[in-house]
Amino acid sequence: MASWPPHRYLAGMNVPLPAPPQRPAKQRKPDWIRVKAPVSAGYHETRRLMRSLNLATVCEEAACPNIGECWTKKHATVMILGDTCTRACAFCNVKTGMPRAVDPLEPEHVAVAAAELGLEHIVVTSVDRDDLPDGGASQFVKVIDALRRNTPKTTIEILTPDFRNKSEKAVEAIVAAGPDVYNHNLETVPRLYPTIRPGARYYASLRLLESVKRYASHIFTKSGLMVGLGEERLEVHQVMDDMRSADVDFLTMGQYLQPTPRHATVEEFVTPDAFKAYAAIARAKGFLLVAASPLTRSSYHAGEDFKSMQAARAAKVARAGP
Ligand code: SF4
Repeated sequence: MASWPPHRYLAGMNVPLPAPPQRPAKQRKPDWIRVKAPVSAGYHETRRLMRSLNLATVCEEAACPNIGECWTKKHATVMILGDTCTRACAFCNVKTGMPRAVDPLEPEHVAVAAAELGLEHIVVTSVDRDDLPDGGASQFVKVIDALRRNTPKTTIEILTPDFRNKSEKAVEAIVAAGPDVYNHNLETVPRLYPTIRPGARYYASLRLLESVKRYASHIFTKSGLMVGLGEERLEVHQVMDDMRSADVDFLTMGQYLQPTPRHATVEEFVTPDAFKAYAAIARAKGFLLVAASPLTRSSYHAGEDFKSMQAARAAKVARAGP
């Protein structure tokens, strides 16, 4: 490869060539991040079903590394309210723009998907819809109602946005619809919010989680953190304490992966041992359940984890005695 000035000059002119465009160095992922390509029959069937029902999934839109594994088992996380978000978080691959009108058929389509995939447990999430008067809360309610009517045995986990400036009413309505698990991710430590999650407020998200328990203490609450964005260990411990003060039951922690060069860079690949250390600290802080590993995502193994959470609560109640 040719070297750069001082010795290369435009022919006949004593003018150095312009500097070559700088390509950002491609970050090499450590071995523990490698995942299988999505090629199974289950993957293609899940994809076909979602297309035919005009449903988006966070698995695809967020470029989740687990899609090969999850969709082989026909576990997909449905993303309602369209595929276009009104915010532009620095970590998220979902496209930003002016979303289309809410699809009135979507709730029934989610129920059809749950039935056809044979889901015992479904996770339903959404884009941010700051353009809607209720932030999209009524669509969550309709989806929960449609699932209860059509697939009454399916347990329901919702992963909602923060419903900026309208969270009290939104949470009240969704909780009244009766999901089994209410998840809202804090995503990162408060210091990094201005760059990573600029449209959100850390304490507003924390209050949302706290309000779920205030309205219905029996609903399991869950929240997730990405690591590798430049957070300090003690900041992560503080977030765990904040979650516990909001009575969050289940903590998920996973490695942030940069979806495209336009997104926030990975500051660190956190080792599996460091995840184990975080998990041990979190358990000591009193979470009912902790899932922490490089490839953990909010909805990864959500069905199995729901059962573990139920068992952990039952054991806790038994320990407490009559
Ligand atoms: S971890 Fe969640 S988002 Fe990722 S592929 Fe599995 S179900 Fe989809």
